[in-house]
Amino acid sequence: MSVTEVRSENFIGGRWVPARSGDTDAIVDPGTGAVVFEAPASGPDDVDDACRAAAGAFTTWGRTTPAERMAALLRFADAIEARAGDVVAIEHLDAGKPVAATGIEVEAAVDCYRFFAGACRTMETQGAGEYLEGYTSMLRREPIGVVASIAPWNYPFMMAAWKLGPALAAGNCVVLKPSELTPMSSLLLAEIAADIFPAGVLNVITGGKQAGAQLVEHPLVEMVSLTGSVGTGKAIAKAASDSLKRVHLELGGKAPVVVLDDADLATVAEAIKVGGFWNAGQDCTAACRVIVGAGIHDAAVDAIRDAARSLVIGPTTDEATELGPVISSAQRGRIHGFVDRAVTAGATAVTGGTARDGDGFYYEPSVLIGVGQADEIVQREVFGPVVTIQSAADVESAIAMANDVDYGLAASVFTSDVGTAMEASARLRFGTVWVNDHIPLVSEMPHGGFKQSGYGKDMSQYAVEHYTELKHVMVKW
Ligand code: NAD
Repeated sequence: MSVTEVRSENFIGGRWVPARSGDTDAIVDPGTGAVVFEAPASGPDDVDDACRAAAGAFTTWGRTTPAERMAALLRFADAIEARAGDVVAIEHLDAGKPVAATGIEVEAAVDCYRFFAGACRTMETQGAGEYLEGYTSMLRREPIGVVASIAPWNYPFMMAAWKLGPALAAGNCVVLKPSELTPMSSLLLAEIAADIFPAGVLNVITGGKQAGAQLVEHPLVEMVSLTGSVGTGKAIAKAASDSLKRVHLELGGKAPVVVLDDADLATVAEAIKVGGFWNAGQDCTAACRVIVGAGIHDAAVDAIRDAARSLVIGPTTDEATELGPVISSAQRGRIHGFVDRAVTAGATAVTGGTARDGDGFYYEPSVLIGVGQADEIVQREVFGPVVTIQSAADVESAIAMANDVDYGLAASVFTSDVGTAMEASARLRFGTVWVNDHIPLVSEMPHGGFKQSGYGKDMSQYAVEHYTELKHVMVKW
């Protein structure tokens, strides 16, 4: 499939409509720097149309049975699977992803829809009972209504699945707004969904921060679900407080990798090669902050440096490519700013530390040592192919350093001692803790942050619960 076949219109109420704003955003292929698409930059009228369509559809979709919603979600998953090649062709241009990685993400998205198809049939609540003499109390789990789903650019197609799967399964109607940098795969998703869901159940409008803010403020929207940066999460939480909309926030991270003296270094190096550089490090759970026991520090630096150097860098169209470009020229400049300031302050790049010459927005996989706990590069999310390594005197200080950031999304610990692994996983204040690996996720388990990484969970049965309201019905005998 080519980009010229993607519709440059909003999908509202089951129909393709040109943006009433008349404005567009230019979409750039990060692999080449060329403009490949013009997407509608939606304005207030487009937002209003989409919210009205969703609210209209909710009167019937909100009353469907879980079995009916399951059937639609399973058909949707099958239809995506059948068009996986098209999705990969679009998404790798949209987000600058190597094709091999994009294929894995499309499979994960399909699995996510299939999981939620089943999950909506097994929602649980406390049993009905007589908690006051002469009355029976029971609980209902009901959909919330119109959900505004606002997605980031790093995994556009997969993030749409994490948002749409639980929201639609629970019986809500959705207005999805992808990132203004990567709208194409969501428009393709709307095309795939067109014959599957009743009109208005799923609406896709494209546009940027303004369209997002207008969605958050729209009176028909009852819940806002964002995956994005901490700053955007705070802005949305503030804006939503005016109308007390429910807010679900999956925000940034600064994942520590705690490597204890008894860890297997080959396992560590392989995990960081994947977990630190997957999607060019533009991952909220990226293994970007390695904290190593003093006894193996030097050997760990060598192993991680060699692993970073072994990454295959190349065109996104090449099946062998492991590390592609970052999303934009601005993002590459931002990444280099972090590295440059760290080096000026005394850090050393044992590999990388520079942009890569040639077309596209490539940045060398970089490993930095000589960084301090209070340094900007340790405390703030870089969101690029950059890993720092710090040394810790003992387990106690390694865990203290790991917890000493504002973020709390994901962490890992590498050790050959089961007791140490169990204790570390209890004490690390992050929503996911891996032992002897870093980055794999499954649809059955919740994903979400502690601290400033947000609240609410994506994936798992708990996500379906987040997209529902509990209602108590009390019947007098
Ligand atoms: P971003 O916050 O800049 O944008 C995210 C989305 O919010 C975009 O669609 C954008 O248009 C919209 N937006 C921006 N300002 C808004 C506002 N005031 N009101 C409403 N909508 C607004 O994030 P990004 O740069 O697209 O994505 C990268 C960030 O996402 C990183 O911080 C990353 O860690 C985070 N992320 C988190 C997870 C997770 O599961 N926790 C997953 C992926 C990415």
